[in-house]
Amino acid sequence: MAEYLASIFGTEKDKVNCSFYFKIGACRHGDRCSRIHNKPTFSQTVLILNLYCNPQNSAKSADGSHSTVSDEEMQEHYDNFFEEVFVECEDRYGEIEEMNVCDNLGDHLVGNVYIKFKYEEDAEKAVVDLNNRWFGGRAINAELSPVTDFREACCRQYEMGECTRSGFCNFMHLKPISRELRRELYGRKRKRSPARTRRRSSPARNRRSTRSRSRSKERRRDYRANSTSLERYRSHSQDKDQREGRFGRF
Ligand SMILES: [Zn+2]
Ligand SMILES: [Zn+2]
Repeated sequence: MAEYLASIFGTEKDKVNCSFYFKIGACRHGDRCSRIHNKPTFSQTVLILNLYCNPQNSAKSADGSHSTVSDEEMQEHYDNFFEEVFVECEDRYGEIEEMNVCDNLGDHLVGNVYIKFKYEEDAEKAVVDLNNRWFGGRAINAELSPVTDFREACCRQYEMGECTRSGFCNFMHLKPISRELRRELYGRKRKRSPARTRRRSSPARNRRSTRSRSRSKERRRDYRANSTSLERYRSHSQDKDQREGRFGRF
């Protein structure tokens, strides 16, 4: 019996535990789900909820008919976002095995970022710290996630370009990064170029730690105003220093 229960744990046959939460780390019923969401106490994976704002979604006109953002701009915007979060989290908390971002549109999945660290301790550290920070003008909401096997969580039809539920599918639609960025982030195998190490080390950290409260408030306001459209993102990203300051602390 125990063996049987173990074999169905987290599957659709399991009437007690929610299979969506178990596999995907998010379920559309949220706290009102009739099945149990077993929140892990240890995990390599951190879920940051609703972190990525796709400018293609926010740039839609009122009737939702068209987007003014080209695919190239879109990819660049996404790659910049991905790199910033990946590098920041790896430098600060520890080695990352993989990071994935959802392209779904449902409230429980939109912009979700899953970061799988090599070590559970690093994931734990990351959750505690991230919940005291903000990104792009919004408070970060992070939690340990039961998801460790992204193959299981992904929508197979989406990968073949055949998902008929499009953005409102309840399986992960993972947005791919460019090949160059993939090579840079995963291929560097932790041998960071001296340039990057120098750039990311002391000056930025010192600035961050000594920044006054009012200064960060001012920045937060600044980013809230700036995060709504790609138009603003464009001028904004020209100031590299500002872009790097999208992470902040309360
Ligand atoms: Zn559920
Ligand atoms: Zn799908």
